[in-house]
Amino acid sequence: MRRVVIIGAGNVGSQCAASIMMLGLADEIVLLDVNSKLARAQVMDLDDMASGLKQRVAIRVGTYEDCTNAEFIVLSAGKSRMPGQSRRDMLQDTMRILDPIAESIKQSGFGGILICVTNPVDVVAEHLYRVLDLSRAKVFGTGTALDTARLRRIISKHTGVSRQHIQAFALGEHGESSFLWGSHLGFEGVTLPELMYQREALPPLKMGEINKLVRQRGGDIIAGKGRTEFGISTVVTDIMSAVIHNEHSIMALSVHLRGEYDESDISVSVPCIVGACGIEEVLQVNMTEQEISMLHMSCEAIRGYAKNVLG
Ligand code: NAD
Repeated sequence: MRRVVIIGAGNVGSQCAASIMMLGLADEIVLLDVNSKLARAQVMDLDDMASGLKQRVAIRVGTYEDCTNAEFIVLSAGKSRMPGQSRRDMLQDTMRILDPIAESIKQSGFGGILICVTNPVDVVAEHLYRVLDLSRAKVFGTGTALDTARLRRIISKHTGVSRQHIQAFALGEHGESSFLWGSHLGFEGVTLPELMYQREALPPLKMGEINKLVRQRGGDIIAGKGRTEFGISTVVTDIMSAVIHNEHSIMALSVHLRGEYDESDISVSVPCIVGACGIEEVLQVNMTEQEISMLHMSCEAIRGYAKNVLG
């Protein structure tokens, strides 16, 4: 029986639950939230949705004891980013709730995979990696996986190639200093110059502008609806599918580095191979000097604003 515990049953947590249910990725989903009235209401609504699904799935409100035998925890506790607020501005509020949650997870003896979503996600992932007695393969953040999805959408719109056949990654901090790994952008083996040569009428891809659009996207959605929820829910289910089906997928995730790219003691997004054990391998890919320096700048930015947490 595959149990998924979702901590924080607000917009993101409930949307993740809905996506997990629709894809049949769990036998049981357990919601935990300090707002028990909200958690109960989300369960009732999702349970109504379950009536229309082919596969059977149980959903209920639970306690941290449910983490003991859970295969996954999705951490989405906190509160939505406010219009104009940066993810970095969320650090203090997030840290206030993080340690009690970490302690309860630890007490439960959880040994599964913890997917951190709560922002600022790089700091949350690194802090939980440090305090929980689990390997980096099992405690990581969604990082720039969402930025990567946004990047592929933009490139797809520009080139007409479907997003599923675009190899492109946003890396670094999930926030202001994320950057594009532009030197290795590809379309199933076809390079960008080759594609552009075939499509003479296309204006050139301006990576700097695309990067700005990728970074702005979350803020634009929040300005319109006060939260983001759908995009992140498919990031979470992509990670879960990669684990459940041992896909060995390559994803940009926020993982604790120990010497890769000459960076240590920080979680930041780099390409990782994801399979049955979680993050099976942190890839050390070729980057240009400029890309490497952007990765270091991203790490410095995280260290700078989170020095009280990361030391
Ligand atoms: P929300 O306010 O709708 O939901 C958060 C829920 O967490 C609330 O129901 C709240 O009661 C609950 N909560 C607060 N403290 C808790 C605690 N100690 N234990 C259990 N539950 C607790 O917010 P949301 O829109 O769902 O966003 C949640 C988080 O996800 C935010 O940090 C947001 O920035 C983040 N997020 C991250 C990404 C990403 O790409 N990493 C994308 C979208 C949202």
